[in-house]
Amino acid sequence: MQVIRTVAEFRRVRPTISGPVGLVPTMGYLHEGHLSLVRRARAENDVCAAWVFVNPAQFGPHEDFERYPRAEQRDRALLEGEGVDLLFAPSSDEVYPPGFDTAVEVGAVAQRLEGAARPGHFRGVATVVAKFFGIMQPQRAYLGQKDAQQVAVIRRMVADLNLPVEIVVCPTVREADGLALSSRNVYLTPEQRAAAPALYRALGWARERWTEGQRDARVLRALVQDVLDHESLAQVDYVSVADVGTLEELDRLNGPALVSLAVRFGSTRLIDNIVLGG
Ligand code: AMP
Repeated sequence: MQVIRTVAEFRRVRPTISGPVGLVPTMGYLHEGHLSLVRRARAENDVCAAWVFVNPAQFGPHEDFERYPRAEQRDRALLEGEGVDLLFAPSSDEVYPPGFDTAVEVGAVAQRLEGAARPGHFRGVATVVAKFFGIMQPQRAYLGQKDAQQVAVIRRMVADLNLPVEIVVCPTVREADGLALSSRNVYLTPEQRAAAPALYRALGWARERWTEGQRDARVLRALVQDVLDHESLAQVDYVSVADVGTLEELDRLNGPALVSLAVRFGSTRLIDNIVLGG
């Protein structure tokens, strides 16, 4: 595995690569969710590339950028073990040199849900993804359904800016008890960790009611909220039943819908989602 730390070096290497490149973007502290994307990218492309970059621009001033977990050596060994060919792991200064003054601002789909709770988050995400697509020039990028709004925002950006990258979405990988794998799960205390499967349980109830024929979005939202309200350690940020593409809140489910939620356990904020009718 070639580890590349500068844009100039990546630019030198890129023309020597032939065949489709599959890219897996990550912030590191890798788990099986990330590795599932790597395996798919590896299987579907001649070359598998990853980036590991904790992007300061997508964290708010009071968020966890400084304490975000990092394990560079371990990540490198995991990626090498999965047969990744190229790892791009630049420093912040390399990505945002003095004078950097451009941002990619995606419209309405980036303003709802996570965008409303974390102002500027998707501007930081879209900007770094556009930059790295430009540097790495992948044919395909592999993203997790776990971050469903991120997928919707990047799809919008790729369509609107005519970026020549196919977005491939991979299913959410979960612990045996249903908790979605996340680098942030390490912040949870044992009590919070024990309570955290409530997220997936609540989504499961929504799926069950939907399967029985319930199509009223308000009823489904209330049901999910109710399950979460019974978990005393959980503080609900939002429960959403929205159109999968635009993320506009629905009254009734006439087509595929994204049921998503954000919940705080102490200072740790977890998100999860399922698609109904997809
Ligand atoms: P992150 O390092 O958290 O920015 O995530 C990098 C990529 O991995 C994103 O496309 C995420 O959606 C994806 N990802 C994170 N957790 C999971 C998971 N549990 N299952 C599948 N994909 C995931």
